[in-house]
Amino acid sequence: MNVKDARPDLAALDRTALEAALVARGLERFRARQIFAWVYRHGIVDPAAMSDLPATLRTTLSTEFRLSTPTVSSRERSADGTEKFLLTLADGRSIESVFIPDTPAMTFCVSTQVGCAMACAFCLTGKMGLVRNLTAAEIVGQVRVLARELRLQSSPFNVVLMGMGEPLHNYDETMTALRIMADEHGMALPMRRVTLSTVGLLPALEKLAREPLMPNLAISLHAPTDGQRGRLVPINSKYGIADIIEMCKRFPLKRRARITFEYVLLAGVNDAAEDARKLARLLSGLKAKINVIPLNAAAGIPFERPSDEAIDRFARILSERGALVSVRKSRGRDIRAACGQLIVEGQRQSPAQRLAVAAFGQ
Ligand code: SAH
Repeated sequence: MNVKDARPDLAALDRTALEAALVARGLERFRARQIFAWVYRHGIVDPAAMSDLPATLRTTLSTEFRLSTPTVSSRERSADGTEKFLLTLADGRSIESVFIPDTPAMTFCVSTQVGCAMACAFCLTGKMGLVRNLTAAEIVGQVRVLARELRLQSSPFNVVLMGMGEPLHNYDETMTALRIMADEHGMALPMRRVTLSTVGLLPALEKLAREPLMPNLAISLHAPTDGQRGRLVPINSKYGIADIIEMCKRFPLKRRARITFEYVLLAGVNDAAEDARKLARLLSGLKAKINVIPLNAAAGIPFERPSDEAIDRFARILSERGALVSVRKSRGRDIRAACGQLIVEGQRQSPAQRLAVAAFGQ
């Protein structure tokens, strides 16, 4: 399982890179389109099955390249239809991806890293630390695998980069993954169906603002002041609220598009009426929508979910001040598939911690 395969990974190449790799081997450039259709439209992973390619090309693909695909180690279904997939990668590491049905769209929530370096105080994934970045093949691979397992290959679906990891902390692989997903000859996923969620790494946001491919943007804000946010999102000491807001004001948006601001609501920490008023003021000059996410509690997270009344009050204050606000309905909590609950037991945990999670985690 841990044997390193040095051949280039077909699944990690965007079409331009695949064309270059084919041409460098004296092969025809246009074959890249056919390969993209097989892999990303039809879900075929064995070149031998790519029946419109010449036999010699199929052999070359099989011998000179590999085509990595995550394997499904387990699949858990929540009472609300949400499904959590534990996927194993070529080096034996594991990640989680979540299918959220009928929101009203079908949505795949995918990971961009094994673990995460951001260490947000209320997020379980953050407790793992960063193990490694995912490759573009592994990011798109989650979408390929979920679409195949759920038989949604020919239906429309959304992709949210809200699983494990901070996508802008793995910028290049994430952007390659988006280019692969968007390619008209493959999955042809429109970027309006993709949302990238970030803590707001400013240099990477500046870069994203200049990309030709533009997914929807969600910023994990979580507090209206630097004092409060700094205690929840450690990277705030480097990229503070004022700089993030200023960047968002300049961020190129399509007509009618808005930036989503995510706000995890924590009892007694950031859920006061005054916090809501400050938040409304902070975002008043922006084309924004606010997504209030009541905390998904878990063992090891030192915060509590506010009462339903506190959640309602917070949302009401925002909307009374003209903000567009939604309260995220938590999905898959019973299988620990909800926001901030993705953690792969056994990677970075002692047996004692593992037992604690098993005993209290659900
Ligand atoms: N790293 C990215 C994307 C991953 S998390 C980011 O921070 O945006 C997706 C969202 O879930 C983020 O807004 C994150 O702050 C939120 N989240 C994390 N832990 C949570 C928890 N325990 N309950 C509710 N939401 C949580």
